[in-house]
Amino acid sequence: MLEPTTSVQYVKGIGPRLADVLGAKGIHTVDDLLHYLPFRYEDRVNPRGISELRAGEMATVIAEVRTSGLFRTRRMPIFQMTAGQGRSRLKCTWFNATYLRDRFKPGQMVALYGKVEEDRYGGELQLVQPQFEILGDPSDEDGGEQKAASSLEVGRIVPIYESAGQGRLTPRWFRRIINTALENLPPELPDPVPAVVRRRMSLIAPREALWRVHWPDPGESLQDLQASRTPAHIRLIFEELFFLELGLELKRREQKAQVGIAFSPDNRVREAIKKILPFHPTAAQKRVLKEIAQDMEKPFPMRRLLQGDVGSGKTIVAFEAAIIAMENGYQVALMAPTEILAQQHYFSARRILENAGYRVVLLTGSLEEDRKREIRRHIAQGNAQLVIGTHALIEQKVEFAKMGLVIVDEQHRFGVMQRFKLMKKSADGAGNDHVGTFAPSTSLRTSLGRPAEGSADSSGEPDVLVMTATPIPRTLALTLYGDLDVSVLDEMPPGRTPIVTRRVSDDRADEVWQFVGKQVAAGHQAYVVYPVIEENEESELKAAIKMYKELGKRVFPDLQVGLLHGRLSPDEKEDVMRRFQKGELNILVSTTVIEVGVDVANATVMVVEHAERFGLAQLHQLRGRIGRGAAKSYCILMTGGKISEDGERRLDAMVCTTDGFQLAELDLELRGPGEFFGTRQAGMPNFQVANLIRDRQLLEAAKREAATVLAGPNHEVSKEEIDRALRHMRSHWQKTYGLVEVG
Ligand code: ADP
Ligand code: MG
Repeated sequence: MLEPTTSVQYVKGIGPRLADVLGAKGIHTVDDLLHYLPFRYEDRVNPRGISELRAGEMATVIAEVRTSGLFRTRRMPIFQMTAGQGRSRLKCTWFNATYLRDRFKPGQMVALYGKVEEDRYGGELQLVQPQFEILGDPSDEDGGEQKAASSLEVGRIVPIYESAGQGRLTPRWFRRIINTALENLPPELPDPVPAVVRRRMSLIAPREALWRVHWPDPGESLQDLQASRTPAHIRLIFEELFFLELGLELKRREQKAQVGIAFSPDNRVREAIKKILPFHPTAAQKRVLKEIAQDMEKPFPMRRLLQGDVGSGKTIVAFEAAIIAMENGYQVALMAPTEILAQQHYFSARRILENAGYRVVLLTGSLEEDRKREIRRHIAQGNAQLVIGTHALIEQKVEFAKMGLVIVDEQHRFGVMQRFKLMKKSADGAGNDHVGTFAPSTSLRTSLGRPAEGSADSSGEPDVLVMTATPIPRTLALTLYGDLDVSVLDEMPPGRTPIVTRRVSDDRADEVWQFVGKQVAAGHQAYVVYPVIEENEESELKAAIKMYKELGKRVFPDLQVGLLHGRLSPDEKEDVMRRFQKGELNILVSTTVIEVGVDVANATVMVVEHAERFGLAQLHQLRGRIGRGAAKSYCILMTGGKISEDGERRLDAMVCTTDGFQLAELDLELRGPGEFFGTRQAGMPNFQVANLIRDRQLLEAAKREAATVLAGPNHEVSKEEIDRALRHMRSHWQKTYGLVEVG
C-alpha cells in the first residue's frame, strides 16, 4: 500500500536516483506524482487508418516503421521515416533532426501525433514534425515488461505527460509509474472537502478523480479532457483552489478581528476635503473615496487595494484619505517606488495640502544624514503630519508619534517581497522576511508607527491603502491580493482625448523626428524612451546617452533636449524633471525611470525606441505619461531588429487598445501569472493542477465556498469537518501554494 504522503522513491520502478530527478520537478510524494497531470490526451481507442486522413487535421496514427533515413539538403538536415499499415504508407518529416538518426528500426510499432499536410510536390499526405512514441518491438531489451505495459499504450485514451530528466523519463515511463502508484493506493482516500461543498459542486471522490484524470473512460469527451473540464479535472482543480481560498478567507477574518483605528469622517473632515480639491472629482473618485472612508470609520484596520489605470487620478484620492487621518489627529505615510515619483508627490502635496495648513515632509534615501535625522525627529514628535518618501521609509527605522494610515503608491513596483517587509516587520524590528504570505498583517505599527518614547498612545493598527496602476486581472487580484478589499477607479477625468498609437520601423526614424518637431513647434513636449531595462547595464545606458547626444546635436539642434536616467544623482534628476515640468525642456530622452507616475500634461508625444523589447505592462505605463491634457497625444512605437511572435502580439495589442485591463489580461496570457509581476517568487501560489486563467470561474466558486464553510459550524457543516479542512489546508499551505504559515 502507498499512502499519498509516501516518498516517491518507494514506488516500484523509481528508487532514490530517479526520485532525485522527480524532486527537481517538484514531485516528492506519491500525492505529487498523482497530481502530475497529462498535458494532452491521445485517442488511441480507434486509431486512424492512414487512408482516412485529411489534410489540415491533427491525427493520431499507429503504424509500423518501414524505412527511415537522414537527408542533407543545402539548408538543413532532414529526417524522414515511412510508416505503414498494410499497404498504406505515410511519410513523416522532421527538420534539423540529426538526433533521430538511430531511433527507428523497421518493424517497430509507433504512435504518431501531428498535423496532416499535403506534400508540396505530389500532393501525397504526410505528417510534419509529428510527436512520436515507439510502442515496442520484440527485440527490445526490456521486452518482458514491454508486453505488460503495451495495454497502457493502445486501445484507450492515452495520457501524454511532459517528459522529465532531459528526456530520460518519457511519457511512457510516467504512464507505467503512475499506473503502479494508482494501483497501490488504499481503497479509500479520505476527502478533506466538507460534504456540503462536495454536494453543491458535484465533486467526485478523490480516488476516482485521480484514476479518471490519468486513465479516462473510453467514452470521455476528448475535448473536455484537453480543456481540463472533465469531472475528474474539476474535482482536483477545485480542491486546490478551495484550500487556497480557505487560507485567504481565514486571513481576512483574522484581520477583521484586529483592533484598528475608527476614524470619524464627520462634516468637518468633509469640509476640509472639499476645500483642497483643485477640480471636481469624477464619479469614480467619489465612489472610491466613500469606500475608503467607510473602511476608515470601522474599528478594524483597512486593507484596501485601489486599482486605477494610469491617469485615472489616484493621487487626489490618496490625499483625501490622508486628510481623514490627519483631521483625526493621526500621521500618514505615503510611499512611492522611485525618488522622482516621491518628489513629484511632494510637490503636489505641498501645493494642495501644505497650502491648506497641513505639515508635509519628504524623506528619501538621498537626503543628507543631518537632514534625515531632523526630519525623523519631526516625525517622532508628531510635527510632520504627512510623510512622503521612498523605501528609505521602510528600510530604516522611522518612528511615528501617531501613525494612522499608510499609503503605498504603484505598489506593483515595490515587488511583493518588499510589501511583506513593509507590512510584516516583526515586533522586534528584525524584519521577519520568512513570513512570506502575501498578507499585510499585524505589527505594521511596529515598523512604521512605532510609538515614540514617551508617547502614551496605544491605539490600534494603522489603515493601509495600496494603489496600483497595474490593472490586475480580477482572478489574480483575488489570489495575490485575496486578503485585500478592492476599489476600482474605472473612469478617466474629463477632457482627455484618446491617444493615437502607431508602430513604425526605425528605418523611418527621420519621419518620426519630423513629427516630433512639429508637435514641439505647436508648443507641446515629447518623451523619447530607450530600453535600458537594467540601469546597471553599462552598454545599454551608453546607447541611450549616445542617442541623446545625436538627438540634441544633429536632429534638434534648436530645441532643448534633456536626459534622465537612473544613474543621475537625485539632484540632477530633480533638476531635469523640474525643467521638463516647467516646459524649459522640449524633449526628454529617458530610460524607463519615467515609467511610473510622472505627470506632465503638456507632453503629447511618447516615442519608444525598440518597443519590441518592452513588456506589455511597461509599454502601457509609458504610454500613460501622455494623453494627460486636452491636446491630442501620440504614442509611437519604433521597432528595430527581429520581433518575436509574442512581441508582435504585444505591439498589435498596444495599437488596438488603451484599456489597461484588456492589456493586462493579454499580458497574463502571454507570460503566465508567475511572470506577471516580474519575478517568479513574487508571491504567486505555484499550483499543481489549477491555472488561474483557465480556471477563473472555479476560483470564484472556491472563494464563495470557503467563506460559507468558515461561517460555520452550523447545520450545513460540522465543527469536525471544519477542523479537518483547516488541518488539511495548513499541512498543504506551504507546499502547494509556496506560501508560509497562515494564522
Ligand atoms: P494616476 O492615477 O496615474 O496616479 P494622477 O493622480 O497622477 O493619476 O492624475 C493624473 C492627472 O489627472 C493629474 O494631472 C491630476 O491632477 C488630474 N486629475 C485627477 N483627477 C481629476 C479630475 N477629477 N478632474 C480633472 N483632472 C483630474
Ligand atoms: Mg500615480
